[in-house]
Amino acid sequence: MPTPRTPILVVSPDAPDPDAICQAADVIERGGLVAFATETVYGLGANATSDGAVRRIFEAKGRESTNPLIVHIDSLESARPFASTWPDVAERLAERFWPGPLTLVLPKSPVISSLATAGGATVGLRVPRPAVARDLIRTARLPIAAPSANRSLRVSPTLARHVAKDLDGRIDLILDSGPTAVGIESTVLDLTSDPPAILRPGSILPTELAEILGFVPAIRGQVPSFINKSPGLNPIHYAPSTPCFRAGIDQLDDPELPENTGLLLVGHHNPDARRAFAHVIELRTPDFAEPAFYDALHRLDELDLDAILVVPPPDSPEWVALRDRLLRATRPLDEA
Ligand code: AMP
Ligand code: MG
Repeated sequence: MPTPRTPILVVSPDAPDPDAICQAADVIERGGLVAFATETVYGLGANATSDGAVRRIFEAKGRESTNPLIVHIDSLESARPFASTWPDVAERLAERFWPGPLTLVLPKSPVISSLATAGGATVGLRVPRPAVARDLIRTARLPIAAPSANRSLRVSPTLARHVAKDLDGRIDLILDSGPTAVGIESTVLDLTSDPPAILRPGSILPTELAEILGFVPAIRGQVPSFINKSPGLNPIHYAPSTPCFRAGIDQLDDPELPENTGLLLVGHHNPDARRAFAHVIELRTPDFAEPAFYDALHRLDELDLDAILVVPPPDSPEWVALRDRLLRATRPLDEA
C-alpha cells in the first residue's frame, strides 16, 4: 500500500468532534473536497454555490458533466431558498421523510451552481440524517453538493476505506464515522413532472411515497430496460473491476465459469447453490442486504478472483432498489 496522501479524520457518528467538523467546514468554504458519511453512502462534498468547487468534484470522480449532483442542506427551512418554487407537496414530503434518504427534484434557484445541476433548470435537494453530515453543512453555512465518493462508474463507498481506495490523493479530507446505515443511494423523486415520478429507486419505497402523494409514483428513469434506450445514461455503473455477471440459481453449474469465481447470493436461495464456489457471500433480506451490498462487492473485488457471479433477488417491490443497483453492476452470464 502506498502512503496515504489524503488525511483521514476519525469522528464519532453521533457526537462528532467540533474541531474535526470545523476543519472539514474550512476545507469546504475554501472550495475543497471533503468525503463524509450520509446514511446512504459516503458523499464527496463541495460548496454547491461555487462553480470552481463543483468542477473539482467532477474532476476527482471522472464524472460526466451531464450527470447532476444532489445538493445537501441541514434542514427543511434551509432547503426552501435553493428551490425557485416550493410546492405544498414538497413541504409535506420533506416533513415526513427528512432527514432521510429522499431527494426531491425541484426548479433550481440561481444561487446553486449550474454545474451541480448539469446545466439543467432543476435541483435535487436532500437533508441527510447523520450528525456528521448535518454538523458539517451547518458549520460551513453552505449547501453541499455531494455525489457518491467513488470514481465514476465504480462501486459506491459505504466505508471510509472504500473512499480512500478510490480517491486517495484526489480529494482534500475524509471524515471517517464508520459504516453508513442505509447503504443504497437515495430515492430520487421528480416533483417537476406531472405526475411526480421516481428517477431512481431507493430504500424509501413507492408505496411509502404514496402515503403523501395519494398515488403510487411510477419509476421512470434509470431502470436498465429504460437506460438501454436512453443515450448518456450508462447501464454499467456501480461495477467492480473484476468481471461481474448475474445468473439465475439454475445457471451456477455453467462449465464455462472460471475456477476462481466468487458468488454473491441476494435473497433466499437453496443452500446447495453455494457448494462449488471458493468465496460466497449471502445477503438474504432487503434490510440486511442494502447496507451490506456495496461492501460485499468491494470485498469480492479485492480477492483477485477471475469472476464474480451475482444471483439477484426476486423481482418484488421490496427489492426494487437493490435490483436496480445489482442489474447495473453486472452483465448477464450469457454475455460472458
Ligand atoms: P449520485 O451519483 O449518487 O450523486 O446521484 C446523483 C443522481 O441524482 C443523478 O444521477 C440523478 O439521478 C439524480 N439527480 C440529482 N439532481 C437531479 C436533477 N436536478 N434532476 C434529475 N435528477 C437528479
Ligand atoms: Mg454515484
